[in-house]
Order: sequence, then C-alpha cells, then structure tokens
Amino acid sequence: MSPRELLMIPGPVEYEPEVLQALGGQSASHMGPRFVATFGRALKGLREIFGSARGQPMVVAGSGTLAMELAVANLVEPGDAALVVNTGYFSERMGAVLERHGARVVHVRAAPGEAPSAEDVATALAAERFKLVAITHVDTSTGVLAPVEPIARRAAELGVLTVVDGVCSVGGEALPLDAWAVDVAVTASQKALGVPPGLALACVGERALAAHRARRAPVASYFCDWANWLPIFQGYERGEPAYFATPPVNLVDALERSVAQILEEGLERRVERHRRMAMAMRAGWRALRLEALPRSDAVAAHTLSALYFPAGIDASLVARVRDEGVVIAGGLLPALKGRYFRVGHMGAVRPGDVLTTVGAVGRALARMGARVDPAEGVAAAQRALAD
Ligand code: PMP
Repeated sequence: MSPRELLMIPGPVEYEPEVLQALGGQSASHMGPRFVATFGRALKGLREIFGSARGQPMVVAGSGTLAMELAVANLVEPGDAALVVNTGYFSERMGAVLERHGARVVHVRAAPGEAPSAEDVATALAAERFKLVAITHVDTSTGVLAPVEPIARRAAELGVLTVVDGVCSVGGEALPLDAWAVDVAVTASQKALGVPPGLALACVGERALAAHRARRAPVASYFCDWANWLPIFQGYERGEPAYFATPPVNLVDALERSVAQILEEGLERRVERHRRMAMAMRAGWRALRLEALPRSDAVAAHTLSALYFPAGIDASLVARVRDEGVVIAGGLLPALKGRYFRVGHMGAVRPGDVLTTVGAVGRALARMGARVDPAEGVAAAQRALAD
C-alpha cells in the first residue's frame, strides 16, 4: 500500500473531493447542453474571481506557460517595447516569451527576495514608450509578492497595458482587475484555483482586446490567436456551443465545481484564509529558526513559503520531510538553487495541513541534527491559528 502523503508543493496541490469526482466522470459531448451550461457557468464565475465586469475569461487546454504565451502572442508585435518587473525565475520566463514574439524587453530587477519598488518601475515606465508592463504577482521561485496595484495604476495613466502572471496568486491573493487597472491576468488550474493541472486561464480586459483588434501584424500562432477563441467563450456564455479546438471537458467540469466552491466561500474570505494559513506557517518557521527568502513580510506571498536551509542542513531535507509524510519542493532560482526549499499553501489548505507540515519539517530538521525543537514549531503555528 502506498503511504498517504500530504502534497504541499507550490502546485499541484491537494484538491477538494468534489472537484476530483467531477474530473473522473464520463466525458460529456462538448457541444451538448449539459457541458454548454457547465462551461458557461465556469466562465461567468471566473469573471467574478478575476474582478472584471467586462473582461473576457478564457480557458484553454494547457499549462500556465501557455497562458503567458496566449497573452503575449496577442498583444506584442515585433519591435514593441515591454517592461518586465523581475522578481525571479518566472519573470525571466515572461521576458523570454516576450522576446520570442519580437518584443524589445527591458527588465527592472531587484535582489533575490526583493521586489522592485513601484517608484523604480514608474521611473522605468517614464523612460520610453512601452506597449506593456509584465508583472509576476507571486514569483513561485522566490515567494516574492510584487506591488501590482500601484504599478498597474501608473501604467494605465501612461496608456501602457499591464499583464499580470497570476499563476501562483489567482484564487489565493487579491487581484481585482478592474479595481487595480490590470488589463490581462493569466493563471493555471493547478494552484490556488484548486483544479488539477491542464488548464491555461486568463481574463482579458477591454483595453487589451482593443489593442488586439488594432494590430497591424497577424498573430503568429494560429492556436493562440484570440480571434479564434473569443467566439467560443462568448458562445458558451450565451448558452450556444461553438467549436474551435476540443475543450478538455473533464477538466472544465472540475473547474466549474471549484469556481462554485470559491464563490461560495467568498473571494475575500478565501484570500483572508490564505493570509491566516501563511501567518501560521511563518510563525512555525520562525520557531524552527528558518530564514525566509523574501526579505520582508511586505513582499512575502501568502500562497507559498520559500525558506533557506539552515547551516549544516542540505537539500536532502526535502526527502527527509517526505519520509515524515509531507511532500515539499526544492529551490528553483538558479542563483540560489540548492540553498533553499519551498512549501505551497494554497487552494484547499486548512489548519490541519499547516500543523502537519510544520511538524514534518521540524522532525526532519531535528533528525538531521539541527538544534531545533519540533514541538515549538507546531506550538507557534497553533498559537497563530488560534489568534
Ligand atoms: N508563472 C508562475 C508564477 C508559476 O508559478 C508557474 C508554474 N510554477 C508558471 C508561470 C508556469 O506554469 P506551468 O508550469 O503550469 O506552465
């Protein structure tokens, strides 16, 4: 019998049973009334989750990287200038995707564990005429949370589009598109949205749709072209099936369930739950004398923790924690690889998961010879949860 393990990596995560049940059913006809209603509900619910009154939610088979490319391929024309607010590995990836589509990319960087300030980004935005600014809301490689709102507002004043990689934030951190003047947010199913991997998602606002319509050059990718997808999503939302490429019907069934659960919990309460779980994790880590990679709480994400290995402890900690029943992840940022590890806490995460995880990390550290008391870690997390 395989051991029961708790999956606490920064995606995929643990999923609600009802979501998994929806995934395991018979595939519906993608043109039939049952699926049309399901997909329509999922899209309408996503519009609420993205906080966009008139934006178009999009759901395509693929992963977060495809979601990034869907945004870039439709907005960028060769020669356009793009500013990347760089907080780690996934911001680098966004820069690479932009360059592949012909953009001239300027990065605003910060030291690992820090985010460029809104003022630094404003200065960079004023220096030349950018088509868009790209921000990784939570860079999963560093656990750094970027200041999206002030950057997006400044960009909007300058007529620059804001594209947010919300792969590690949507459904776990606040990211209201309209309220913050964000034009496009992209995400993937396997993280805070609480659906197994396989869906690339986005919400595209009116200014971004207008920029797409005003293109001079055709979108280079046939599959990515919003012109092919817009009639599909609009059709399903009206209750009319339309075909461009076969939708991943079971994943959409699962998405519809998770979206319904998210709205039932309420977005604000869900974000607050993520914050509380993150605070409890942080209390546990501090009691275990673990140093966080984000340099301050102000730039620390609530969807994952990134923590340095303490002196004398190496990357084999990850396997030792698995021996204690919890699956966590190693580091990802090339500059710090082998020096830190990551713990995801998003989606269905609840107090018991926090205590189990802090307990497993504490026991593994103690077994490896670190001078920590595992009970103190759990007690600190417990106190934070009880507050
Ligand atoms: N952006 C961020 C912030 C991510 O965390 C990830 C995945 N960890 C991606 C993009 C890429 O998503 P995927 O692996 O689903 O392609």
